[in-house]
Amino acid sequence: MDEAQHINQYASWNNMAANLAYVCWAVGILIAFGYFVRLATTSDSKARYDFINRYEINVLWIAAIVLIVGGGFYFNSNITILSMLWVFVRIFFTSMMGMIVALIVQNLLRFYYPFFIEKRLKGLRYKPRISPKTGKPMKLLSEEEEDAYLDEGMQAEENVFSVDYDVWKDEETGYIKIEKYAGHLHAIQCPECNYQTFKVVKEEIIKQPSATEEGELLKHYQCSYCGYKAKKTVHLRQSAKVEQSTTAAA
Ligand SMILES: [Zn+2]
Repeated sequence: MDEAQHINQYASWNNMAANLAYVCWAVGILIAFGYFVRLATTSDSKARYDFINRYEINVLWIAAIVLIVGGGFYFNSNITILSMLWVFVRIFFTSMMGMIVALIVQNLLRFYYPFFIEKRLKGLRYKPRISPKTGKPMKLLSEEEEDAYLDEGMQAEENVFSVDYDVWKDEETGYIKIEKYAGHLHAIQCPECNYQTFKVVKEEIIKQPSATEEGELLKHYQCSYCGYKAKKTVHLRQSAKVEQSTTAAA
């Protein structure tokens, strides 16, 4: 009698745990699926670039956590014996396993996945933009060519704030499309460990640019994987007045 009652109690828990597991798995898959649907329906290359850059790793991480929690419930949905000790053992073992799997996923997302993302981002950034005027591909201007289309503020930003502007030009009509890329958020390949985890962490202006002389900016890089640090000096262009007169002269 007692025995049968116990089995029934576990049966309702087992049932609930299994259902919670299915709910978690469904939610986890929906989160990832929702992200990719949203991405698939974004056609503009720059918008796709920003969307992937900003959300992809975080969304996959959240989806993975929900899936892992689901796994934890599923793992505890077949209970036949239970005592105080067993409860503790199960809680301990489940959370340990969950943490180990989460750690593995986190490392994959932080250190391996960025290679995959980087490849796609590069493709999106340099995919020829289509001119809305002619429907033909536009041309990406070089660093020198683009200056003519960037205002002083943009040029200063490009110099100092690790911002990159891409200027696309429709050579037939002169239509211009300017896209802004934030260098700060973007990690590059680490020269030490080769992971895509090398980022600007600090910038200092060593020398302000004057009307006659170039300035100097020191960029501090650090790798979030191996901790490798490096400094890079960047020359700041002479102040805007001179810049303009030289462009005018040329
Ligand atoms: Zn490194």
